[in-house]
Amino acid sequence: MYDIIIIGAGPGGLTAAIYARRANRSVLVLEKESFGGQITYSPKVENYPGFNEISGSELGEKLVEQALALGAEVELDTVTEVRDMGRYKIVRCEHGEFQGIAVIIASGSRHRRLGLPREDEFTGNGVSYCALCDGAFYKDREIAVIGGGNTALQDAVLLSEQCARVTIVQNLASCTGEARLMEILKSRKNVAFLYNTVVDELEGEEQLTSIMLRNTETDRTERFPVDGIFVAIGLQPDNAPFAGVCKLDEMGFIVSDESTVTSTPGIFAAGDCRVKKVRQVVTAAGDGAVAALAACRFVDDSAK
Ligand SMILES: Cc1cc2nc3c(=O)[nH]c(=O)nc-3n(C[C@H](O)[C@H](O)[C@H](O)COP(=O)(O)OP(=O)(O)OC[C@H]3O[C@@H](n4cnc5c(N)ncnc54)[C@H](O)[C@@H]3O)c2cc1C
Repeated sequence: MYDIIIIGAGPGGLTAAIYARRANRSVLVLEKESFGGQITYSPKVENYPGFNEISGSELGEKLVEQALALGAEVELDTVTEVRDMGRYKIVRCEHGEFQGIAVIIASGSRHRRLGLPREDEFTGNGVSYCALCDGAFYKDREIAVIGGGNTALQDAVLLSEQCARVTIVQNLASCTGEARLMEILKSRKNVAFLYNTVVDELEGEEQLTSIMLRNTETDRTERFPVDGIFVAIGLQPDNAPFAGVCKLDEMGFIVSDESTVTSTPGIFAAGDCRVKKVRQVVTAAGDGAVAALAACRFVDDSAK
């Protein structure tokens, strides 16, 4: 029986492990894929305090090393279900089953991808999924934002403050984001809109240099030179294994506020997997600390 089982070894889960171990609780971290979480896909991080610049994989490695050095146990396995047994929880995985008094879910979420050939190869080399993270790398450059919902429009507002040209590429006949954001964008001289348009191909040698666009009404294609694209077509949480114990919102994010408390006592949610406005390493780490301390209190109360 562990005091605290943490699901996900990204910045949220690993920070929770660091705090829980420093509070002397027994901790198991379960990770299905890559220790360090999704930041390991970023070649350059410039907004994590304490490091002017660090690669995402190095940041991930440092977090894992710190959690291990403090005595956290880690297992590579995929969690398939969490069950609430009242005084303890059962965490079922593909290859085994664990018991813990408290559980912290830090399973993250993924940016929806375009699903195009070479998308992986160009990620970090002209293809970005996060304007807040990578916008500064495209100062005075020409970029395209793919998508027309609120996230895409917010990204376009942010990017148009520093990029030379921002083209919003939307597959529908109009944008679906807020009118207020549209007004801001329409008033900016460096912003253009392409409607009924999809990206068919990503082109370039090592760095993205152009995209092939297709008008879905006329079927006409056009090579469009760009320094980079920001894909903003939504986020995909992977919280199905936790639906039995946590209330999820309509998008599938775990319903929880800054306290990280979920609908089940003793189950906490940290980082990108929960309903929140800003999904970044630093906010996930902040949640991890809050969740760990709340879980420690729950463990203490359970022993009374
Ligand atoms: C390319 C890229 C660049 C980015 N750049 C920046 C940046 O410059 N600055 C910044 O602050 N943020 C950046 N981000 C965002 C940042 O990576 C995330 O906000 C942060 O990693 C969220 O941490 P997390 O711990 O909540 O989730 P994640 O990092 O997503 O970690 C969740 C972990 O849980 C695991 N998991 C999920 N489900 C299960 C399961 N059922 N069983 C076991 N394990 C499971 C996943 O495999 C994953 O490793 C970037 C993201 C990407 C993709």
